[in-house]
Amino acid sequence: MNLIFLGAPGAGKGTQAEVVSEAMNIPQISTGNILREAAKNGTEYGLKAKAAMDSGALVSDDIVIGILKERIAQDDCQNGFILDGFPRTVPQAEALDAMNIKIDKVIEIAVADETIKQRVSGRRVCEVCGASYHVEYKPSKVEGKCDKCGGNTIIRKDDQPETVLERLAVYHEKTAPLKEYYAKQGKLVTVEGQEEVADTSKLTLEAVKA
Ligand code: AMP
Repeated sequence: MNLIFLGAPGAGKGTQAEVVSEAMNIPQISTGNILREAAKNGTEYGLKAKAAMDSGALVSDDIVIGILKERIAQDDCQNGFILDGFPRTVPQAEALDAMNIKIDKVIEIAVADETIKQRVSGRRVCEVCGASYHVEYKPSKVEGKCDKCGGNTIIRKDDQPETVLERLAVYHEKTAPLKEYYAKQGKLVTVEGQEEVADTSKLTLEAVKA
């Protein structure tokens, strides 16, 4: 099954994509994680992307479309995949359609902006493997350490409050139009984000399997 996870930054789409990835045994492809890794490694496109990411802006369509094409061609995607954070613009969605890849469902995790602003401040991410945590809703077993690899969990630069406001504005302008784009294709399923992550996960899995 090929799925897209859509949602404002901080809505929890990455967390839910991870849950579904484990439940269905298909890879979660996070363009954000790939870009952060590239920035860390100092590759040419990674450095280009870093400035945009740190300011809360989007990385150019050319770069992310290139990354995605390469990633999706890998063997582990043959039985399906979850796109987490791609597409984020209408041209990216059009590029995906042009690749002739059939998307089965687009799951939107819907959370009000006000709730997001409160939530994002507690978000932590492993600086080594990129796994995500939340101090209140999804704490790691040992504070400050990743459950999966033992790396340090940190606050992402783009989770700083002023950057979050910019990212929300960018989401509404550039990414939210994708809801209509996929609704027209009959693929959009909206899951209302709940207070408890586990409750959202239950609804998300139901939506995927329906
Ligand atoms: P994320 O981890 O999905 O929140 O992504 C972090 C940042 O990476 C975003 O704020 C963008 O700067 C960049 N990014 C990730 N995916 C995309 C995409 N599909 N298009 C453009 N920029 C992206």
